[in-house]
Amino acid sequence: MHRVAVIGLGRFGLTLASQLGRNGVEVLAIDRSGALVEAVKDDVAVAVRLDSTDEDALTAQDIAKVDVCVIAIGENFEASLLTTTIVKKLGVKHIVCRAQTAIHAEIFRRLGADEIIQPETQAGEELARKLANPHLEDTIRLGDGYSLIELRVPKAFLGKSLEQLNLRVKYQVNLVALKRNSPPQSGSVGLERIYVPLPGEVLQPNDILVLVGSDAALADLPKE
Ligand code: ATP
Repeated sequence: MHRVAVIGLGRFGLTLASQLGRNGVEVLAIDRSGALVEAVKDDVAVAVRLDSTDEDALTAQDIAKVDVCVIAIGENFEASLLTTTIVKKLGVKHIVCRAQTAIHAEIFRRLGADEIIQPETQAGEELARKLANPHLEDTIRLGDGYSLIELRVPKAFLGKSLEQLNLRVKYQVNLVALKRNSPPQSGSVGLERIYVPLPGEVLQPNDILVLVGSDAALADLPKE
């Protein structure tokens, strides 16, 4: 089973550890506060109160054997740095560090962190993207300038078949699936279904197009 250590059980670390535990991951949750260790203990495999800047204490928990170690300490940069240095030295395979600033992120990278997260910045960017593009239902970054998006059907596409729209040629994007709300039947609520449509499918109001393409090509799609 996948084993993950979460060090620092503030709002971020506590949520991460509990959700991982509830999703069947074997979690080792660590904090120097007894109250926080108590708060998470029912959701995780092991919850321990210790100071993560104490190398012997981490060694005693077999930290080197986890698949991933997330250092979720926030404000206390010094503790985060020392902890990263220790888990790196102990040979943890994959280290994820939570950084508060870009400079901190750079320092964690130089210490050998495999992944850096900046939850506040990332949440801000995500919210800005959503508010600036309300027609986008969802986006998954595929890397290298490519994304998968869920786009509410633009007015310009309504009543047209996929064959007529010819999205691949006109916009250089691929439609991979269509989400459609079926009209409510008497006594039942309309259900959303997702399927791969045929070329003759005519787009209806409230359809959601699941599209893949370069970010530039996706940005060129009609928005309204
Ligand atoms: P959040 O935003 O997630 O609530 P925060 O930035 O407010 O976090 P911090 O005080 O930086 O909180 O740290 C998060 C958690 O990390 C706290 O619960 C704190 O007890 C724990 N922590 C800090 N230093 C250590 C350490 N050396 N060993 C173990 N736990 C630590």
